[in-house]
Amino acid sequence: SLPPFDHQPRPYKGMLADEVLQKRKKFLGPSLFYYYQKPLNIVEGKMQYLYDEAGKRYLDAFAGIVTVSCGHCHPDVVNAVVEQTNLLQHTTTIYLHHAIVEFAEALASKMPGNLKVVYFVNSGTEANELAMLMARLYSGNLGMIALRNAYHGGSAGTIGLTALHTWKYPIPQGEINHVMNPDPYRGVFGSDAASYAREVQDHISYGSSGNVAGFIAETFQGVGGAVELAPGYLKLVYDIVRKAGGVCIADEVQSGFGRTGSHYWGFETQGVIPDIVTMAKGIGNGLPLGAVVTTPEIASVMSQKIQFNTFGGNPVCSAGGLAVLNVLDMEKRQSHCADVGSHLIGRLRTLQQKHDIIGDVRGRGLMLGVELVTDRKEKTPAKAETTVLFEKLKDLGVLVGKGGLHGNVFRIKPPMCFTKDDADFVVDALDYAISGL
Ligand code: PMP
Repeated sequence: SLPPFDHQPRPYKGMLADEVLQKRKKFLGPSLFYYYQKPLNIVEGKMQYLYDEAGKRYLDAFAGIVTVSCGHCHPDVVNAVVEQTNLLQHTTTIYLHHAIVEFAEALASKMPGNLKVVYFVNSGTEANELAMLMARLYSGNLGMIALRNAYHGGSAGTIGLTALHTWKYPIPQGEINHVMNPDPYRGVFGSDAASYAREVQDHISYGSSGNVAGFIAETFQGVGGAVELAPGYLKLVYDIVRKAGGVCIADEVQSGFGRTGSHYWGFETQGVIPDIVTMAKGIGNGLPLGAVVTTPEIASVMSQKIQFNTFGGNPVCSAGGLAVLNVLDMEKRQSHCADVGSHLIGRLRTLQQKHDIIGDVRGRGLMLGVELVTDRKEKTPAKAETTVLFEKLKDLGVLVGKGGLHGNVFRIKPPMCFTKDDADFVVDALDYAISGL
């Protein structure tokens, strides 16, 4: 059971869900999609909880798509934002201001090796756009390599890096190729990192001009369904890519800031240091904020022309971002993710023994995936059942994410303040929902 709360209706400015839905359909374009058959109208958030207009409380196990790292409306982040907003909301980085340098210094202190130069942007997409530009300028080449099953953004450039079919609009890819996904569960080579790496080498040697600008990968694929790349893969591939003249980019938009529990950054779980790291989502706890961190050597190519965007490094986002880093440190969120995550994955694995529909349980820390299948041997995606269970979980007051190649993976990536009791509530709800199928 969850802690008690008031259940008071809280319609925002008296607007009810139906009216919000009608207006959204009318004014927000046809491409928006809704997660639930009857879309949720969320009006308030408090740490790991969300509240709809009727006052129903939900345990948020998806954190606004892995974004709310500290917790909804965490008081320290809210205070930092309010304080800075009252002092100075905006100037752009053509002037000096203290918040941006404080934040950049704090972020650089979290990076290994020579990754010390920070560029601020407003989203993960923009971060990956900039990273791709840097890789191309630095290497003097155009060819980018990404993984099948990857999601790196939806802009005209980054949609080339994205491979997931559900997100892929048919526009020219622009010198971007996708290599096999080193997916231990569904990949043809299982966990055999060397075989996947050989395919990358083959692609460079025989399937392309051989001139590589860069390689980009999420160590833990998020939208792709909580897939942790085969162990050892990045080390092998980074060597291959660097020998071919390319730079290595780690997309940490979902996996950074200690969420994996074992390490602060996802790439550290593979024992590599990238040349460029991109981040967004959890860095701002919900503020529109992204960053690219690279080496002084690579950054030097950006001085050929002006590199600038109006809102990147905005004082309010910088103050909020700095507060996020401090909260995560002060509240020891990385070790907390390790602790709660190992409890949660243990309970999910026990549940897997009870229910055949659970084909795979994977991930680390609070970056977990549960893949549903109708046949464990054939790994047939349980698409219809996933939809039913997803709705049922919502009715039971639990919000999870959905993803994967076939849309049959529950993604459990809550705010990092999630407790073991919360984890138990999710597992019990899932158990109850599956038992009722
Ligand atoms: N990279 C990854 C790994 C992501 O998950 C996302 C967003 N889902 C992006 C990049 C794009 O980030 P944004 O939506 O902030 O543009």
